[in-house]
Amino acid sequence: MSLWKEYKSACSFPKLKEDIQVDTLIIGGGITGMTTLYYLKDNISACLVDANHIGEGVTANTIGKLTYLQGAIYSKLSKNINPLVADSYLKSQKDAISFAKEIIEKNNISCHLEKVKSYSLAIKEKDVKALKEEKNFLEKQNIKVEENTLCSQNYKYAIGVEDTYVFNPMEYINGLKEILKEKQIYEQTKITKIELNHNQYICYTKNANITCKNVIVACHYPFFTIPFFLPLKSHIEKSYIIACKYDKNEKYSCITVSNPGFSVRFYEDGKNIYKICLGKSHVTAINQDDKKNFQKVKQLFSIKEADIVKEWSNIDIITDDFLPYIGLMKKNFYMATGFNTWGMTNGILAGKIISELLLCGKSNYQDLFSLHRINKYKIKSFFANTAISMKAMLGSKLTHKKWYPSSLKFIHENGKSVAIYTDKDKKEHKVFTTCPHLGCSLIFNENELTWDCPCHSSRFDLDGKCIKGPSLYDISCKK
Ligand SMILES: Cc1cc2nc3c(=O)[nH]c(=O)nc-3n(C[C@H](O)[C@H](O)[C@H](O)COP(=O)(O)OP(=O)(O)OC[C@H]3O[C@@H](n4cnc5c(N)ncnc54)[C@H](O)[C@@H]3O)c2cc1C
Repeated sequence: MSLWKEYKSACSFPKLKEDIQVDTLIIGGGITGMTTLYYLKDNISACLVDANHIGEGVTANTIGKLTYLQGAIYSKLSKNINPLVADSYLKSQKDAISFAKEIIEKNNISCHLEKVKSYSLAIKEKDVKALKEEKNFLEKQNIKVEENTLCSQNYKYAIGVEDTYVFNPMEYINGLKEILKEKQIYEQTKITKIELNHNQYICYTKNANITCKNVIVACHYPFFTIPFFLPLKSHIEKSYIIACKYDKNEKYSCITVSNPGFSVRFYEDGKNIYKICLGKSHVTAINQDDKKNFQKVKQLFSIKEADIVKEWSNIDIITDDFLPYIGLMKKNFYMATGFNTWGMTNGILAGKIISELLLCGKSNYQDLFSLHRINKYKIKSFFANTAISMKAMLGSKLTHKKWYPSSLKFIHENGKSVAIYTDKDKKEHKVFTTCPHLGCSLIFNENELTWDCPCHSSRFDLDGKCIKGPSLYDISCKK
């Protein structure tokens, strides 16, 4: 349960019960889907469906920075692709911040948008060079960069920029829900299959079908694998977040480029001040002991148990060239995914790009984020990515995890692996342990009491209900 999930909205939307026909269907109501609907609202008959509840996916578990200073991304892109791509990505992130501000200010969305400086820190000497290159790059783009001015952290070298923000992502989504409440939005409506029939897409849900000309896939991890092959172009990264009570809003956000990495921001809700600490980021192929990972974050930030208000984990998709995939996949079929942990800016940007592509046939950043791009970085990282994916898949198959609690037992039933978790009220929860998406074995997350797929990020609750795709199916195993 993240800090943001406390912010409930009065708006809720029905389940889809009967067949409908619309011009455009948006699949997924996170920051990407909701911003896309916002941009399309006055021009097109669009409908949005969400498998669960609007905004309660990955967006609700972010830490809510809106910044263009993203570690040392520009020096990485300059070196591995070329400086023009880095330049274009920088412009896109600055634009995304302007779009976010414009939506929030024009509609008076009260979402604790706060202008704070952003810093990137090198904790180790070996990372100083990359940050100095980042500084040079930014200065060539006429951005004022501070050097070593952040006082409240230890580091070897730090750079800082202005014109960056933090906000409450759930309040942003709740604001959009209010603006879009007259639109066709359906919750608890999962798309399970999409078929093309005479230039129209038929999108299937459990109870009814949606026929439409355009489909926009904004469901974080697309639930189909072919023809996009996302599992071969990306891997999953998980991080652990702790919000704790703090006495001062220090009005900055920071991220390290060193290992072990961490990220910090502050949040003030009118009554309390919180320091939000993120750490122990890792590819999901390794370090799967969540309890230990939370413990490491507590140690890293010297957090006292009594100060902890919330702790949660989150995952995001890391692409092979660290750029998102946003755009046209095939005729009248659009997608936005792979935000590399920068989906607040990129999700909002995706809404803008896809709406422009749909309404005008072109957008400034269509080549940069093209789903079909090829560059030397992608070619270079293809094998590394495949190795990580294989490691996650094979590693998940080792069922003996020594950190698992004694309340968890594994058995075999009809040739299938089944787990039984006994909760504190002695109630048994029985599930199949194989992910229905592509067959990885699921990992038990003792902190959040979920079953998580280390390969492609599906999640299931204790009784096996799928709470996050790409899996389309539950893993419930009725007694
Ligand atoms: C630890 C961490 C911290 C982060 N912090 C930041 C930050 O500070 N700043 C930043 O810019 N980014 C940050 N990010 C990244 C950001 O949180 C994500 O990239 C972004 O929230 C993704 O938004 P989304 O709309 O694509 O996905 P989601 O919010 O997950 O929305 C997708 C929706 O699609 C629905 N869905 C899925 N499948 C189906 C289906 N078959 N049918 C119908 N609906 C479906 C889901 O229910 C869900 O509601 C962070 C990421 C991590 C992991």
